[in-house]
Amino acid sequence: MINGFASKSDRFSNPGDAFELPRRRMVEQLRTQYGIRDERVLSAMMTVPRHLFVPEALSSQAYKDNALPLAAGQTVSQPFIVARMTELLCLKGNERVLEIGFGSGYQTAILSLLARKIYAIERIKEIADVSKARLMSLGFRNVSYRVGDGTLGWPIYAPFDAILVAAGGPKVPETLIGQLATGGRLVMPVGAEENSQKLVRVTLTDTGLKTEEFGRCSFVPLIGQFGWEA
Ligand code: SAH
Repeated sequence: MINGFASKSDRFSNPGDAFELPRRRMVEQLRTQYGIRDERVLSAMMTVPRHLFVPEALSSQAYKDNALPLAAGQTVSQPFIVARMTELLCLKGNERVLEIGFGSGYQTAILSLLARKIYAIERIKEIADVSKARLMSLGFRNVSYRVGDGTLGWPIYAPFDAILVAAGGPKVPETLIGQLATGGRLVMPVGAEENSQKLVRVTLTDTGLKTEEFGRCSFVPLIGQFGWEA
């Protein structure tokens, strides 16, 4: 695999771990029921130990098909939505990716296996500190972290080949579009209500913006200057 994926995969896959079977079932469900096709995405989801990213008391539910509670009223996204959003970014291995709202860090771990460098922003420090420590202890090294308002992007590292926003906003922030490389993709839940959105992909082509929609979803609100008010 590209980008050291194979060696990382050796490091993270624990063939004997107690969760291998539920993790395999989760991946099969993503493939057969949800139609996730990108083998690199499926392989990353088979590799990352999701049970280590959810509250310990809920680890037995880590591979079920639903979102789980995180701290401060936030949620760990459903495996399907993680897989779908990642697939929509069309990562080949060499990209620089901006992730907004990294929460538990599970999505960050998946991205870190599939792209060259991840720039991850989370607005709640209490969540960010725990997740950063966990990702570092698990050996995910190609990630830079920041606590702050992700709707402003991360201008000094722009442009990005891909941007993933893991919280729902009223519209795609212009600031983020301004930080996309030509050919770059941004995937984000967008909706006029705070907890119900459409999954949107915006691609910056040579000739302008292309916007596509991929069905309904439900994310916690994107709170910030170019999102919802706190
Ligand atoms: N993919 C994450 C999703 C966490 S929920 C996971 O599966 O764990 C969404 C996260 O977005 C929350 O942690 C919330 O605090 C964060 N968030 C909301 N608005 C934000 C903003 N403007 N900038 C950065 N993070 C934000």
